[in-house]
Amino acid sequence: MRTDIPQTIYRKDYLPPAYLVETVELGFDLDPARTIVASRLTMTRNPASKQKHIELYGGELELVALRLNGRALTRRDYEINGHLMRIPNAPDEVVLEIETIISPEKNTTLNGLYVSNGNFFTQCEAEGFRNMTWFPDRPDVMARYTVMLRADKQKYPVLLSNGNLVEEGELPDGRHYAKWEDPFKKPSYLFALVAARLVCQEETFRLADGRDVLLQVWVEEGNLDKTDYAMQSLKNSIRWDEERWGLELDLDRFMIVAVGDFNMGAMENKGLNIFNTKFVLANPRVATDIDYAGIEAVVGHEYFHNWTGNRVTCRDWFQLSLKEGLTVFRDQEFSADMIGTDSGRAVTRIDQVRTLRQAQFPEDAGPMSHPVRPDSFVEINNFYTVTVYEKGAEVVRMYQTLLGREGFRKGMDLYFQRHDEQAVTCDDFRAAMADANGRDLAQFERWYSQAGTPVVKAETRYDPVKKSFEITLSQSCPATPGQPKKQPFHIPVAVGLLGAKGNDLPLTVNGKTVGSTTMVLELTKARQTFKFDGVLEEPVPSLLRDFSAPVVLDYAYTDDQLIHLFNHDSDAVNRWEAGQRLAMSRLLRLTKAVSEGGTLVLDETFIEAMRKVLLDESLDAAFREVALLLPSETLIAEQSEVVDPQAIHMARQFMRSAIGRKLQKDLIAQINANQTPGEYSPDAIAAGKRGLKNLCLAYLAAAFLNLDLAERQFDKATNMTDRFSALTSLVHGESSEAERALDTFYKDFEGEALVIDKWFALQASAPRTDVHKVRELMQHKAFNIRNPNRARSLLFSFCNGNPAQFDAPDGSGYAFWTEQVLALDKLNPQVAARLARALDRWRRYMPEQQDRMRSALEQVSASGKLSNDVREVVTKALA
Ligand code: ZN
Repeated sequence: MRTDIPQTIYRKDYLPPAYLVETVELGFDLDPARTIVASRLTMTRNPASKQKHIELYGGELELVALRLNGRALTRRDYEINGHLMRIPNAPDEVVLEIETIISPEKNTTLNGLYVSNGNFFTQCEAEGFRNMTWFPDRPDVMARYTVMLRADKQKYPVLLSNGNLVEEGELPDGRHYAKWEDPFKKPSYLFALVAARLVCQEETFRLADGRDVLLQVWVEEGNLDKTDYAMQSLKNSIRWDEERWGLELDLDRFMIVAVGDFNMGAMENKGLNIFNTKFVLANPRVATDIDYAGIEAVVGHEYFHNWTGNRVTCRDWFQLSLKEGLTVFRDQEFSADMIGTDSGRAVTRIDQVRTLRQAQFPEDAGPMSHPVRPDSFVEINNFYTVTVYEKGAEVVRMYQTLLGREGFRKGMDLYFQRHDEQAVTCDDFRAAMADANGRDLAQFERWYSQAGTPVVKAETRYDPVKKSFEITLSQSCPATPGQPKKQPFHIPVAVGLLGAKGNDLPLTVNGKTVGSTTMVLELTKARQTFKFDGVLEEPVPSLLRDFSAPVVLDYAYTDDQLIHLFNHDSDAVNRWEAGQRLAMSRLLRLTKAVSEGGTLVLDETFIEAMRKVLLDESLDAAFREVALLLPSETLIAEQSEVVDPQAIHMARQFMRSAIGRKLQKDLIAQINANQTPGEYSPDAIAAGKRGLKNLCLAYLAAAFLNLDLAERQFDKATNMTDRFSALTSLVHGESSEAERALDTFYKDFEGEALVIDKWFALQASAPRTDVHKVRELMQHKAFNIRNPNRARSLLFSFCNGNPAQFDAPDGSGYAFWTEQVLALDKLNPQVAARLARALDRWRRYMPEQQDRMRSALEQVSASGKLSNDVREVVTKALA
């Protein structure tokens, strides 16, 4: 078999498993160099399958023993083809006993059983379980697990696995054991074990049904002062799932464990969630407001998976969004409900829209574009994407928009009623929504099958005589790999009409008044006209309110209309959106001016609009902050016909410094008005004030003004949000104090890995940081490419977050990228493949730049020993 042509797996080829597994008994004799894994599976032939052989998957395993119904199998009794083992002609009832040996300390992929800082952890999603033992490692095989862990007691005093601890005790030679039983059926990807020297914060918590459960947050000893917020977030999550969805915790014990080496954010293993430290550890000294919000969201996310993912799981990995899109939607709603106010909710919604545009729209327009439910993949790890997660969440949100909150809840109830303890598909979810509401959602399926970001073009016509207002919507969707032509989507477009005073006009359709001033239009055809009557004045339409669908809205707004919406729209998302449109049109004009060597000017109209929102005390600080944030360089690049990264950077910097100069006095006033003295609290109001204040500081720094304010804040700050923002302003403002501040910061936080990540990330994305500087930082004693957080903080921050330098015209950034992708690929293909995607959008650059990017991609592609992960990404980029 050639290894350089990886196999593509197709959704249409799905076959049910030949055998079902009833019980799994696992024994782990843990040793970093040589761990013995014993497995005993009771299996029965699956009546739903026509296949006659047992199929097991295995990674790099040393097979020591294999017995079927007590009889040792020899090499003639089974065949191994790559990672697949076939045992033909097996009886209907099988007891399979397998013994393998693995070496966790050599596992740098962090997939399967591995060692991090001397402790053992597992990561099994999606296909990591097979790196420990041969197993039908697919999510539609759900079994009951009993796990025996044995390890040195001194080194690994804590032994954890899924479910309940049923037995523990001493063994000879200073070893001990613990036996765990998970009462629920689960797929292998939800298995986990931890053997470690850790301590925990724990608490008994009473569920709505009166049961008491044990909650634990496990961390290394020095981090016990950073577990409060994760624990609080866990309790809030449990409560919220009970109250909003009627879903209860089904275990007696729920554990969160933090690990410093982790490929992703966190993992929802049944009863034993394993987290990247980044999403557990926080106290005011080391964590920013954004970190706190991240912890709340991710703790919620993993907890909510217990129902959406674990109790009801995925039939196959093509259905990944069934659990991820739904669970992201749930964590988004959780975060919004935790803030509680309408304006707070709106800001969380705006943040979601920003992520979608910043990351998902580009993905959907690039070589890795795929539907929310992909049709094929080479390496499933490459499909844990913003499309599956964030666009998937938007798709779930659209059900709620179309069916209403109550209708959506009915659909959720029916989904659990039908599918508890089953492995199901996105179609099953859609069917539950349709059936619970008596709705036809057949066309809605296209959101799962068609890739690409739809464009909704709006045209309007006001008839002053008939007092009617017509909105004509037409939809199209660009071609994506393998999908040249698209069928119309079922798109909910929420609209409102603003009068001249900025008020919402009442809506009348077919002579009937609509109960609300926002109406959801259902666009299902390529082109449709919607008519409102009794519109007494020519309105300004507020289209796609609350970002009711993941589409690009194309409407020829005038500046006056946008300013009207920016000042008055009752829909906060569209209010923000109007400001973004005003900023974007100017940024594109300025970018063009830079490219063509023209003069740069920013009009007073725009500055005054910004000033007005800055000073509007009726608005929450958090909203004012997002309203004043300019579209990112990535976003400007996406809107440009041909990407000129340096011009984009200069244009945006010009605009930022113009805002700093022209609003100087007001910015200073807002800095003073938004101080948050007293004890730190991460709540939305206080965080909003800090956010606005620190954005003001950043605008001043962009104009190289009042750097003394940043300096003072850096020295006096009592929380990481203020301290790190001040440091950022000093570095970006090129203050003479920047170096000193960076040194002080490093020394103050040398022992705090997550803070040192920030220190690297800030420097990597600083405008002055070029490849040479990054290489220098790689030599720093604190840099370690094997630690994913550290690699992300330096390499990814530079390649993805500093386009003007990364895309340097001499190609030095791409040469660096080539080196790092190849170096990472030898250690950790999953992380390498993510870095590989930094060149996804290469076709949008100027021809000479394209050549440099293509040759970098080709260089990676030509490397003989590539993982499937990186191979798939670069092959698709070059296709
Ligand atoms: Zn998830």
